[in-house]
Amino acid sequence: MENRLVLVINCGSSSIKFALRQEGQSLPLASGMAERLATPQASLKWRAGEQQQESALADGEHRSAMAALLALIEQFADQPLSAVGHRVVHGGEHFTGASIIDAGVMDAIQANAPLAPLHNPANLNGIRAARQVFASIPHVAIFDTAFHQSMPAHAYRYALPNELYSVHGVRRYGFHGTSHQYVTNQASLMTGLAMGEGAWLSAHLGNGCSSCVVLDGKSLDTSMGLTPLEGLVMGTRSGDVDPNLHAHLARTLGWDIPRIEQLLNRESGLLGLSGLSNDMRQLEQARAEGHSGAHLAVEVFCYRLARSLAGLAVALPRLDGLIFTGGIGENSALVRALTVNHLAILGLKLNAEANTSLPRGIAGAIQNIGSPAILVIPTDEERQIAEESLALLDAPTS
Ligand code: AMP
Repeated sequence: MENRLVLVINCGSSSIKFALRQEGQSLPLASGMAERLATPQASLKWRAGEQQQESALADGEHRSAMAALLALIEQFADQPLSAVGHRVVHGGEHFTGASIIDAGVMDAIQANAPLAPLHNPANLNGIRAARQVFASIPHVAIFDTAFHQSMPAHAYRYALPNELYSVHGVRRYGFHGTSHQYVTNQASLMTGLAMGEGAWLSAHLGNGCSSCVVLDGKSLDTSMGLTPLEGLVMGTRSGDVDPNLHAHLARTLGWDIPRIEQLLNRESGLLGLSGLSNDMRQLEQARAEGHSGAHLAVEVFCYRLARSLAGLAVALPRLDGLIFTGGIGENSALVRALTVNHLAILGLKLNAEANTSLPRGIAGAIQNIGSPAILVIPTDEERQIAEESLALLDAPTS
């Protein structure tokens, strides 16, 4: 069948994001979100082209939200769905790529729940509900961690006693794999290389932020680790701090683990540094008006990003280019300029005019002559999930 349809699902504890994707199309046929599930305020919002609608979900459980999606799909689809692609956060070491979901795969997702206690159980909930409602088609799991399973041990091991790794799985896993994979594939196409070829640094800068180094389609290292807290400064997450900070706060302030987790995940990052906001748009405006906290937050964000990228570059034999993506990477000319300014050591030189005049939502090159490519590429994780789901269906079974 041509131009097959895939329903992409990203299920959280109280929400289901979805997109109905058609093979070969860059935009979804329909997309939206069921929110506040399991409460009386449960609702389903969607848009399809010019049409959009919000309606209450009478019985706001995951299963009835899926049933409402089925009705919606029947309205917009001219053929049956070929697959449902599910975003799953943590695949641990078990999953190195997309997997057709069966009972064994569901058990393995459950077994990885200690590594992502908020996300994996919610993802599984969505899978169970979707398999009931869309019972006759294959369901595929796509893991945020899988792309980084190509990292060598010298990149993924912490300098901790071996048993913590071998018995308890304490190692660096990395996240945002779907996004880093998508934008590096696009970067190859934009620069005339074969799909997946090239030596890239990738910066996914949204509310969560991570950097990644990719050589010929394989992640060699990334800034996030055992959890998505490691690495870069993010909206409300601290990124790297001295690991002894925990003990210091416990000793000097009497804080317990939940309080420290709250601090590092919800009160830090751009929000903590600026004392104002986790939102880069607001910080840029406040910085322009002379707010010293906003100024500091943006400076630290860009310096730490550049430091991470320069560190990751040691994994490459050469550098074909640097990619900016995510809400901040795609939209903030200021963040791109300040970051590249710190990266002269890699030969990166920005074309200031191209940087500021790039239209929103459009991919483009913003480097000066003689520099490795500097690319702005809108990420599209749903498209990547849909394409990987179909590729798995097409793969010969062994
Ligand atoms: P995401 O999680 O990918 O949706 O990205 C969210 C982040 O992107 C927030 O910090 C937003 O402030 C930031 N963002 C979105 N649009 C802009 C913009 N035009 N300029 C600067 N930052 C932006």
